[in-house]
Amino acid sequence: MRTSLAIASVVVYLACGTAVAQGLDHFDASDIRAVELDDNFYILYFPTGGNLLVSIGEQGVLIVDDQFRNRVPAFLERIRGLGGNGVDVVINTHWHADHAQGNRVLGAGGSWIISHLNSREMLTRERIVNTVQAQTPYPVWETSALPVATFDETMQVHFNGQRVDLMHFGRAHTTGDAAVIFRGHNVVHLGDVFNTSSYPFIDADNGGHVDGVIAFCEAVLMQIDEDTVVVPGHGEVATYQDLRDYVDMVQTVRDRIAELVDDGANLDEVIAANPTADWDDELTNSLRFVDRVYANLTR
Ligand SMILES: [Zn+2]
Repeated sequence: MRTSLAIASVVVYLACGTAVAQGLDHFDASDIRAVELDDNFYILYFPTGGNLLVSIGEQGVLIVDDQFRNRVPAFLERIRGLGGNGVDVVINTHWHADHAQGNRVLGAGGSWIISHLNSREMLTRERIVNTVQAQTPYPVWETSALPVATFDETMQVHFNGQRVDLMHFGRAHTTGDAAVIFRGHNVVHLGDVFNTSSYPFIDADNGGHVDGVIAFCEAVLMQIDEDTVVVPGHGEVATYQDLRDYVDMVQTVRDRIAELVDDGANLDEVIAANPTADWDDELTNSLRFVDRVYANLTR
């Protein structure tokens, strides 16, 4: 009986990819892996959805990104286990649901939410995220889920003895990405501008652009040093050199696709040419990345 149930649930997961993608699957605190990056400073990894950073200290709890809303009770329990109580401040790296939908629970509960001004603007109107595999509609979010403070180019937050720099370097993964740099901990969270678990997704239909991803990462590399812990939106933490290598990969793939487009190739021909071949053993399924770069370069 258990076996058939397990098989049935696998089938349901495969059939309902969007349910998993929207965080509607069941979730427990034990599904979250916490790793201490520095004193009272943690990364929380989830089986799906974006990475959280958590600062716990005398002023309370500050987190970067807040996952799908159904995961809030689980990560609040996890944070309590680490010595924190509730969440005082949330910084959104951008507005996608797997990074910011927890706003809908935490904002209503009194947390102060901060984001780039374009991210807040996106939350105030209906929009669709085209991930190539799916078209995900987003409703307008209620006022309590919206950031109460926004920034344009840079902003500093001072909390738990840390200076936290929020920096925006133009459109990249979206039009409202923030790099969040904890100067004292020497850690940066790049949201989905950087990814170590798969090829990057570029939200091209909502203004994201591959050239911006490259420029954004180059700008962050100027802000950090070779010892900085570099946190991606998804996947394991990385190093300065990993980010450098990632920029080179994105640039190379972009240039290969641009050359094919200049030669008159259509999307099917670009995919058939496999411009990501050098990295496919490590980063599987490049279709979404290639499709979105092609969209950027042909519109
Ligand atoms: Zn995203």
